Amino acid sequence: MSRSLSLELKARFRPRGGQRGDLVDQANADAEAELQIHLHQTDARLLRAIEEALARIRYGTFGTCEACRHPISRARLEAVPWTRL
Ligand SMILES: [Zn+2]
Repeated sequence: MSRSLSLELKARFRPRGGQRGDLVDQANADAEAELQIHLHQTDARLLRAIEEALARIRYGTFGTCEACRHPISRARLEAVPWTRL
């Protein structure tokens, strides 16, 4: 897990309460907003990668490494179907 995502998740799940509740709530709301932005960016990248994999199926190049043109292993494709390498 990336360090920034880890920090976001820690902020997201930080316990609430105490004298500075409003500040903590505001911090949680900020962290929540940043996490949602991060997840949407990740979704967009993943969606693009999947659409490109579907295009490779249409063009008949799916499962071929883009760097060395060798076949990508079945196990790897099953784990990460949108992989390019
Ligand atoms: Zn390769």
